[in-house]
Amino acid sequence: MADGSATRRVLLATHSAHKLRELQDLLDLPGTGLISLGDAEILDEATEDGSTFEENARLKAWFYAARSGLPTLADDSGLEVDALGGGPGVRTRRYAGDDATDEENNAKLLAALAHLEPEERTARYRCALVFVDSADAVGSDGLVTQGTLEGRIAQAARGSGGFGYDPIFEPAGEPPGGRTVAELTREQKNRISHRAIAAGRMAALLRKRG
Ligand code: IMP
Repeated sequence: MADGSATRRVLLATHSAHKLRELQDLLDLPGTGLISLGDAEILDEATEDGSTFEENARLKAWFYAARSGLPTLADDSGLEVDALGGGPGVRTRRYAGDDATDEENNAKLLAALAHLEPEERTARYRCALVFVDSADAVGSDGLVTQGTLEGRIAQAARGSGGFGYDPIFEPAGEPPGGRTVAELTREQKNRISHRAIAAGRMAALLRKRG
């Protein structure tokens, strides 16, 4: 997507090079180049105080569109665990504390579910994407897509791929004790992930809008 012939620049509201590369691959929009907040030299941080992934993605999209003057795509994602009433939800990244590491978050979640059988450990990753540009009234909904990956929280961490909660997340297609997302290849993850599904839906909307 980001090649020399790109004619339109879209800001991806992230500092993460990992997310930029992943969404470039997943969106695959000819003639459009995605740039990151770093590329656009934007240092400010949007306040993510929404109560849903979609609200947070929209907050980020409008915040960074205003600073850049560019069409802007924002994502927000996280984990919903049924036994925790859908938590940690929008607090996924900060589950074990504001500066928690992935290992600390995973350990806290394994401890919280320690007494539960596999069928009580159901969970899903959810991703919301919001795209806004100058055709949209400021603050309006923009284009919105979502994707989910159903699964369950494993009894123990396994695998070294992916990031975040991947070592303790078994996709629904695996039996209890089967492969976690951290044991899939990048290509396998990108075929089923919540972000891939949301991105595929967003690519279709963007192609239609032209
Ligand atoms: P954010 O969308 O960057 O705010 O990320 C939310 C948090 O959700 C991340 O820090 C991860 O802990 C978790 N998360 C989101 N997507 C994934 C994924 O694909 N694998 C593992 N963890 C994820």
